[in-house]
Amino acid sequence: MDISGIGVGRNVAVGPVIRMAAPLQEPSKAPRAVGVSADEEMARVQESMKTINADLQRRAEAAENGDKGTQQAAPILQALAQMAADPALLDTIKKGVDDGKTAQRAVFEGFASFEQTLSALGGYMAERAGDLHDVGQRVIADLEGVPAPGLPQSDKPFVLVAEDLSPADTAGLDMEKTLAIVTSQGGPTSHTAILARARGLVAVVSAAGADDLSTGQTVIVNAAEGSVTIDPSDDEIAAANAAKAQADKAKELRGKPGALKDGTLLPLLANVGKPEDADPALEYGAEGVGLFRSEFLFLGNEQPPSVEVQTAAYIKLLSRFPGKKVVIRMLDAGADKPLPFLTPGDEPNPALGLRGLRSLRQHMDVMNAQLDALVAADAQTDADLWVMMPMVTDEHEAEYFVRLGKSKGLKKVGVMAEVPSIAFMADKVAKVADFVSIGTNDLTQYTLAADRTLGSVADYQTAWHPAVLRAIKMIADAGNANGMPVGVCGEAAADPDLAVVLAGIGVNSLSMTPVALDDVRAELAKYTMDEAKDKAAQALDGAFYHPTRWDFEQQ
Ligand code: PEP
Ligand code: MG
Repeated sequence: MDISGIGVGRNVAVGPVIRMAAPLQEPSKAPRAVGVSADEEMARVQESMKTINADLQRRAEAAENGDKGTQQAAPILQALAQMAADPALLDTIKKGVDDGKTAQRAVFEGFASFEQTLSALGGYMAERAGDLHDVGQRVIADLEGVPAPGLPQSDKPFVLVAEDLSPADTAGLDMEKTLAIVTSQGGPTSHTAILARARGLVAVVSAAGADDLSTGQTVIVNAAEGSVTIDPSDDEIAAANAAKAQADKAKELRGKPGALKDGTLLPLLANVGKPEDADPALEYGAEGVGLFRSEFLFLGNEQPPSVEVQTAAYIKLLSRFPGKKVVIRMLDAGADKPLPFLTPGDEPNPALGLRGLRSLRQHMDVMNAQLDALVAADAQTDADLWVMMPMVTDEHEAEYFVRLGKSKGLKKVGVMAEVPSIAFMADKVAKVADFVSIGTNDLTQYTLAADRTLGSVADYQTAWHPAVLRAIKMIADAGNANGMPVGVCGEAAADPDLAVVLAGIGVNSLSMTPVALDDVRAELAKYTMDEAKDKAAQALDGAFYHPTRWDFEQQ
């Protein structure tokens, strides 16, 4: 039997399920049963605390002997083990038991009072309060004879099944043992999905049927298909292992330039949100940065950052890519990225209001400061800096920004194509801009008039719609006719199948979240340019777009 959900990534995993145990109920305040002495109850507490201490010690030792990543967990596990043997804590619990409380209640209250003390100390100690709570829950679970809540512990690799994972759970995942994650809740942009994508973990989220999976069942988790097969046959396991071997092969091309089967080059670049993200970009073999979202410098601030602060951040990024292309986007304030000092709070339709270039035009001081910082950073580094403006409507706005950027001393100045009007005017834009980068997230939202932040119209948010692909084609055709590079930097570039279509349409580079690079690189290598063109022709004709919501038969 299969369960379906939303797959994250393309890989496949096979293994036994371990369900994440549900949180424990708070132990009852009712007094202990008559006839159970304090000594007997306290003996139970000591036994459970000893069990948990030994378990944590054992895991700490195993972590110490593990690989580098696992070794980091050893001191934390040691500290937790000590918590479970703390004599002062035992004293407090004993007082509760002497007062007639059950072992569970006395443990619950004893740990809670220590947690409060730690929280009050603030800083590092306060962070440990959560760990202490975790130990307390384990002791209570042991007393009750139920599985410990939170992340399961296992010596063998397993498929983690949960309703959803909290950020703390995901941070604590043992990457050595977790073969895959299956959750019944959460969508493609949930915390779990983002983490799985960032760590390259196989995951299927939003799989409603996952609630029926039980610990010990063998499953195949197929992220490419968004499916979970329960109790698979030997043949199905063999096929899954073959698919996994095939998906693992995607990594083999890492470090090679993006190219089609016939050798046609298609540079694969990384989307980067802050300078530190250069690490994953380089790790996954990005040939440069195709989109640096400069908003991170501005978001959460009351004021725009100074030229000096910005320059330092740009230098930090650029210095990681000597000799390579780095495309930095000018501040895209407004709509889904509002900034208190730039964005009016009373726009009824912010996506159609002052955002990107429109916002910066109203705040020339901010625009000039950013350009000055970019020029200063460029002068001090060896990357090939390209700068682009978001939310540009036509050739007039494009020419305005290109001239402004060049007057400051920038060498490559271009625009993003996010508004359909720029596609209609692409032949003229291609004559004034150094390059165009297509932001398919916004181009889709504006082409289909569907707010990208609104769940009720989320079905429209797909660049597979032939209207979006035709807009992309208009821009690519104009670029190729005028020798102007056209890239794609929206989510569409991260979809391996769509990447092939974009190559066939004539796009010159693709930029995506770094972990998507392996799969896109591998998929492109399977097609010649002629085959990609063929696939593109079908896609432009709507062959891969299925508008099921208007299927009359299903009304
Ligand atoms: C886009 O719109 O496709 C894009 C890359 O920009 P953002 O998602 O940051 O708006
Ligand atoms: Mg955009």
